[in-house]
Amino acid sequence: DGRVIAVAGAKGGVGKTTTAINIGVALAEAGETVAIVELDLAMANIIDFLQFEPERTLHDVLSGTVPTTEALYPIEERLHVLPAGTELAEFNAINVAALAPVIRSLRPAYDFVLLDTAAGVSPETIYPLRLADEVMIVSTPRVASIRDAKKTIELAHRVNGEVAGVVFNRAGTGRAPPPERLAGFLETDLIGAIPEDETVAAAQDMSRPVTLFDPDSDAAAAFHEIADTLVLSD
Ligand code: ADP
Ligand code: MG
Repeated sequence: DGRVIAVAGAKGGVGKTTTAINIGVALAEAGETVAIVELDLAMANIIDFLQFEPERTLHDVLSGTVPTTEALYPIEERLHVLPAGTELAEFNAINVAALAPVIRSLRPAYDFVLLDTAAGVSPETIYPLRLADEVMIVSTPRVASIRDAKKTIELAHRVNGEVAGVVFNRAGTGRAPPPERLAGFLETDLIGAIPEDETVAAAQDMSRPVTLFDPDSDAAAAFHEIADTLVLSD
């Protein structure tokens, strides 16, 4: 069965969605089959990162009107995305407990299931920590982000989630201590570091993952390195 990895971190804008998508692309290029499930149910935005306009979403799946397989969109060979609905009205009707059977149904179908989680601390963010086999924390090397990462780690432990480690995104700028030291402060393993890279923003402006938009960029190389680490730890 596939591995379910929650990409989490309580602070918004640290790069959870960027990381989930680009690791997904890199895993798919390494030959793995991948499903990314967008669990940012209130502030869904994964469609802004990718060129597609879904007619069916996770909201339809959770309300029982659409089978899971019909809301999975192929982005690349071996990479499928299950997007959340973008309307506030849809969010109001959500029942997070209905997520468990959806995720369970994806396990046998993919090598990796990546859960792109929301910022903040709410049932919507906590429940995926419980459903996943492993939690990948994403943080920037900044104090405010690390403080929020610590909270997510505590929450994961509270619901018996397994924290695999931390990815530091937008690393290498300012005067932040080295990623190894920051991971030590969080008492968790360092999975990898992604540099601050303007190509990431440029790629997003084109609704393309940086791993496809500019495969030779430093950021793309960092995402591939993390994907390789995941495959090796299988
Ligand atoms: P989150 O999902 O945690 O809210 P996002 O993945 O949406 O964060 O990223 C927030 C913004 O930061 C996006 O506009 C993205 O393009 C930008 N960004 C993310 N990672 C990097 C990076 N390594 N270098 C430059 N910009 C980045
Ligand atoms: Mg996001």
